[in-house]
Amino acid sequence: MVASGLAHSRFARAAQSADVPAVSRTGGAVILRAADIVAFQAQQRGPVLTRDSDSYDVVRRVWNGAFDRHPAVIARCTGAADVIGAVQFAARHDLLVAVRGGGHSLPGYSVCEGGIMIDLAPMQGVRVDPQTRVVRAEPGVLLGALDRETQAFGLVVPAGTVSHTGVAGLTLGGGVGRLQRKFGLTVDCMVGADLVTADGRLVRAGSDENPDLLWALQGGGGNFGVVTSFEFRACEFGRTAVAGGIVFPIDQARRVLDAFADYCDSASDELWMDPVLECDGAGHRQLNFTLCHCGDDASAGKDVAAIRKFGKSVRDSVARKPWTAVQSEFDRDSPHGNGYYMSGGRIARLVPIMLDHAVESITLPGAELGKISLTQQGGASARRPAASTAYASRDASHNFVVRASWEHPKDAAARTAWQKRTWKGFEPYSVGLYANLNATDSNVKARSAYGDNLDRLIEVKTKYDPTNLFHLNPNIAPRVA
Ligand SMILES: Cc1cc2nc3c(=O)[nH]c(=O)nc-3n(C[C@H](O)[C@H](O)[C@H](O)COP(=O)(O)OP(=O)(O)OC[C@H]3O[C@@H](n4cnc5c(N)ncnc54)[C@H](O)[C@@H]3O)c2cc1C
Repeated sequence: MVASGLAHSRFARAAQSADVPAVSRTGGAVILRAADIVAFQAQQRGPVLTRDSDSYDVVRRVWNGAFDRHPAVIARCTGAADVIGAVQFAARHDLLVAVRGGGHSLPGYSVCEGGIMIDLAPMQGVRVDPQTRVVRAEPGVLLGALDRETQAFGLVVPAGTVSHTGVAGLTLGGGVGRLQRKFGLTVDCMVGADLVTADGRLVRAGSDENPDLLWALQGGGGNFGVVTSFEFRACEFGRTAVAGGIVFPIDQARRVLDAFADYCDSASDELWMDPVLECDGAGHRQLNFTLCHCGDDASAGKDVAAIRKFGKSVRDSVARKPWTAVQSEFDRDSPHGNGYYMSGGRIARLVPIMLDHAVESITLPGAELGKISLTQQGGASARRPAASTAYASRDASHNFVVRASWEHPKDAAARTAWQKRTWKGFEPYSVGLYANLNATDSNVKARSAYGDNLDRLIEVKTKYDPTNLFHLNPNIAPRVA
């Protein structure tokens, strides 16, 4: 495993001279004594930051600019020993805990006001064994780095669609993306993990050791502790795919979506389709029909030709591309620092009234910078039994996502209101929420996110985190003794 070191800045190491007001696990007030912080700083290899530290204001930022929170301390972890130290410090002082992997949590779970942020971003190692196809990734790794390292050996771990998303949070929630119909979810390739539990122990989760924990980590979120290393069995994969977006004018959107709904029935596992209704900041609306085909030229050509006939496009970027280019093509649509509010759910089947609602909603005021996507699920990700991993609702036909976004806080209220209104029209058709894609005001309702797997998840949660130290996530409450 390659562990990257951190240069310890003079400022990060400056001795803490004042006590620091903080927030406890249950929301009460706590005072961290200066001497305790100094002792904590001395024991860690990575820097421990407080408000006075030079890089504090940069490090506390997360992808969703709607969350401008100030942790009392930030522990920048360089390895498992630092994570153990940080968890023990948090438990000893009964602190509110936020765990940050790639920092892309929609509801801002990876930063907290007044607690401790356990920052895993410095842990960037990826190791690929081309013989066994086993890939180990540290929890600060982003999807782009995972693709780059695995593609060097003609391998891939199926994951999400935006390359600056974190491997850690995405995997722990399930992991849907362009290859899920061919190879399954990210968790379907996860074969092990190292995890620091709430009592500061490092445990291994695998099929031969703590299999209940491995099962829970395959979709149960960050509920059970801090993962310090993920282990995947990668899939053999060429270095290219046919992918991109076919843009249709908004007045054709409804017709194109009808054709899409019909085409889903006969689509092969190689084809992944994600039509996105979108509106730019100036109010221009369009349907960006994004797709990826991971088969050969003949089968890809046949599917792409059929989809092009869904309407008369105005732009078309579909072509054979290097896999790493496919995976980053739409990164710019999700810039860091904008404010976002988002919900994502699963549906059993597309019905015309939903498509009417989607097309109408994108034309309404408040939709500026908004997106509504209807991603086809199924294929390999649906063929595993629902209880084989903690991830629920494998039988959904589509995932739909409604995302509001704003550059200026003054637009937040109107855009969020648009999102909530739009979501309300979809909600009756939802058969469950995708825990990774929700920015609800409170924690995602556990039964809706975890379905029939919830009872078993509660058992694992109670075993590994009985006091709910790790609750800034789509939370599973432990059983009360
Ligand atoms: C632009 C964008 C695109 C996305 N695209 C997809 C997609 O294609 N497919 C998909 O499935 N999802 C997608 N998502 C959702 C994404 O999976 C979640 O937002 C995920 O939580 C991000 O992980 P992260 O490590 O970046 O986030 P973080 O904010 O760092 O963490 C998210 C959650 O995981 C917990 N966590 C993080 N690291 C650890 C760890 N090592 N141990 C224990 N708990 C941990 C955190 O405490 C937090 O609760 C997307 C999100 C965004 C913002």
